[in-house]
Amino acid sequence: MKIPVGILGATGAVGQRFVQLLSDHPWFEVAEVAASDRSAGKPYGQACTWRLPGAPPAAVGSLTVKTTEGPFEAKLLFSGLDSSVAGDVETALAAKGHAVVSNSRNHRMDADVPLLIPEINPDHVAALDIQRKKTGGGYIVTNPNCSVVGLAMALAPFQKAIGIEAVAVVTLQALSGAGYPGVASLDVADNVIPFIGGGEEEKIETEPLKILGDFVGGAFRPAEIQISASVHRVAVSDGHTMAAFLRLARKISADEARRLLADFRGEPQARKLPFAPARPIHVLDESDRPQPRLDRDREHGMAVSVGRVREADGHFHLKLEALVHNTIRGAAGAAILNAELLTERGLLP
Ligand code: NAP
Repeated sequence: MKIPVGILGATGAVGQRFVQLLSDHPWFEVAEVAASDRSAGKPYGQACTWRLPGAPPAAVGSLTVKTTEGPFEAKLLFSGLDSSVAGDVETALAAKGHAVVSNSRNHRMDADVPLLIPEINPDHVAALDIQRKKTGGGYIVTNPNCSVVGLAMALAPFQKAIGIEAVAVVTLQALSGAGYPGVASLDVADNVIPFIGGGEEEKIETEPLKILGDFVGGAFRPAEIQISASVHRVAVSDGHTMAAFLRLARKISADEARRLLADFRGEPQARKLPFAPARPIHVLDESDRPQPRLDRDREHGMAVSVGRVREADGHFHLKLEALVHNTIRGAAGAAILNAELLTERGLLP
């Protein structure tokens, strides 16, 4: 018997990824889908303009889309809701006893909500005790901004082994990160746009601090790292690339840095969770990698690729390039891995 799950915002870019990635999941089965009033009442196959290869699985295509009011039978709800509505909807559903595993930004920095990357901070699920005392059982768990997953993963081995003082990062972010229809084609063709709305730079500068910090004495204690980000939208379909410059607590060689990255493993690997990549970080030695088209699908889009690891002079100790599949490891796949961790730890309501 599989665990029935619901998808909120199922018709959107992230919602469609959920439907695709959950189609033959060994533990979870999509039983309910929800979106706005525009879609509610219609069969999913009709309400949704499917923009991934192939067609939605027939069993999901025939589900009638609900509004976010539900009611939902599934205890586990994935959320790819637009951030204009996600905040209140997710709070209300947690209060009704659901485990809401969300991609949206609204609750990421809440004092009792884990901002989870299971390889890095699985113990932050302890914050769920605080939520469950208020709701009687339901809770919200979030995954980070799509760029932050790649950045935090590339930083975690250094933070754990040595300590990081400062990071400067320049991102080159894919079009799918803006949902559909996203950026106008005449704006982005033959072009690079040095701005992404919705507080993208602020998210990249703050979310890693919560992820790389601790949860002690019932509160999050952020890591003390200065992060400065400059973001760009580029004409790539999927895959966010980041050039990062790191100042560590001490200088290390590029070989030691590559070893720390390549050896990095976490609880998902130890537990062999279905969506866990065997190697969360793939270290690439070729001088012209990672590249979005060639490297974003490593381990079904769940591995982060890091290349061009080299020593730096002056203010920084290391330079590297990281790449993350933004709608898989950076969104729907991240939430599914979070839900697998919650299931394995016996935390589902
Ligand atoms: P999207 O394609 O615009 O989809 C938004 C979804 O929300 C649709 O299912 C839409 O339903 C639903 N929705 C919109 N307004 C609603 C309302 N008033 N009531 C109920 N449902 C409503 O957006 P997306 O790119 O999938 O992003 C979804 C969320 O994930 C956002 O919070 C985003 O920041 C986050 N995220 C996105 C990415 C990425 O790479 N795209 C990565 C990480 C996180 P209808 O179809 O019925 O309008």
